[in-house]
Amino acid sequence: MKINYGHILKDHDDTIRQKSKKVDLPLSEENRQTLNNLLTYVRNSTDPELSEKENLRPAVGIAAPQIGIFKQLLAVVIHDENGNPIEYALANPRIVSHSVQNAYLKSGEGCLSVEDVHEGYVYRHARICVKGYDLLVDKEITIQAEGFLAIVLQHEIDHFNGILFYDRIHKDDPWKEDPKAVVIE
Ligand SMILES: [Zn+2]
Repeated sequence: MKINYGHILKDHDDTIRQKSKKVDLPLSEENRQTLNNLLTYVRNSTDPELSEKENLRPAVGIAAPQIGIFKQLLAVVIHDENGNPIEYALANPRIVSHSVQNAYLKSGEGCLSVEDVHEGYVYRHARICVKGYDLLVDKEITIQAEGFLAIVLQHEIDHFNGILFYDRIHKDDPWKEDPKAVVIE
């Protein structure tokens, strides 16, 4: 299935809150295909021509529950400071350790499943260690992530528990300061 924006579950549908299950390893052909479809969406979504032609909305990550597949599968594509892509297509990714220090994106977070604006700081761990199976290298890997990558991975892994970014914004004080937090520009 080629994914487009029309396939994405939005947050007015409570289904997005459902929990996702771990998948068996080695990956089934079906789960490999799902990971490839997720990765293709994210890769193509930031190409202006393809995103226009195929009805994609730009994203740096997507999780399987966002297309109604409640399995722990996700894809991430970000770029390093030289413009080189950093890509993951992960099965069963889990955070095995994290910093006490928080971090947040200065411009706030967005999500393919969220159309309304939700303002406020979304605090996450500044540094995380993630273990999971990566289809791109076809083996179990360990990712030491900080900065933007750490934020994106935590955002996507949250989807496996039905958590959306604005759940993490302080209800009464959305701009509550954490003076120790790392600000990611
Ligand atoms: Zn999201």
